[in-house]
Amino acid sequence: MLDLLIIGAGPTGLSAADAAAKEGLDYIVVEKGTIANTIRQYPVGRTLFSTPNELEMREGTLKPLREKPTREELLSHYIHFVLDRDLKINTGERVVDVSGDIEQGFFTTTDRAEYHAARVLFAIGAMDIPRRLNVPGEDLPKVHHLFVEPYAYIRKDAQTWHLLHAWAPVRHGNRPARRHRRLLRHGQRAIDDWIHLTAVLNQFCSHPERSLSTK
Ligand SMILES: Cc1cc2nc3c(=O)[nH]c(=O)nc-3n(C[C@H](O)[C@H](O)[C@H](O)COP(=O)(O)OP(=O)(O)OC[C@H]3O[C@@H](n4cnc5c(N)ncnc54)[C@H](O)[C@@H]3O)c2cc1C
Repeated sequence: MLDLLIIGAGPTGLSAADAAAKEGLDYIVVEKGTIANTIRQYPVGRTLFSTPNELEMREGTLKPLREKPTREELLSHYIHFVLDRDLKINTGERVVDVSGDIEQGFFTTTDRAEYHAARVLFAIGAMDIPRRLNVPGEDLPKVHHLFVEPYAYIRKDAQTWHLLHAWAPVRHGNRPARRHRRLLRHGQRAIDDWIHLTAVLNQFCSHPERSLSTK
């Protein structure tokens, strides 16, 4: 019988696994996706809201290039943490049932195996359990409960395409004049797009039932 079975390898599950390992417990983490699965699903390049001290596994170990880490820097931090400490994590294994009690221990059934553990820790986060609004339109493919990239929703015309491509060299410090001029020419239009998106989001947050078009 295991001492501890942890469900979920997000930051919470990883901290618990680290603590269990330090205590010398016989533990295993079962994760339906990948290490830090929720963070892996953030949009590519996404900058976190939090500063390193709120996210790192050990003080001073997360060192982003800027003030706040990107998705990639944070993912790399968590994955290295797991690999460096050889934490016991089974990825790609979904828990489907937990039964039992304190006296006899808990039986955890996954889509691959069954485990018997003295204790079970649910570190499953909240992202897989969206709060449904029960309003028309929320089942449409364009309505998401996870933060997805906005690019697919910006006007699909040539100018927007050029603008997105013009940003890339500027962000990487290479500023060819031709691209820069194009950026300035189309900048106002991009700002208009973002203002429109922000307005839609604000309206959605205040009145979701009015904002979801059923088309
Ligand atoms: C775009 C975006 C930006 C964010 N920015 C920030 C930020 O700047 N700062 C901040 O503090 N928070 C931020 N968050 C929230 C942050 O991601 C969560 O607070 C954090 O991931 C919670 O960690 P957790 O370990 O509790 O849960 P999660 O990271 O959600 O981990 C839960 C894990 O459990 C697994 N799991 C669930 N069910 C099962 C099952 N049945 N079997 C096996 N495994 C299962 C999931 O696959 C997942 O890997 C952001 C979220 C998003 C979407």
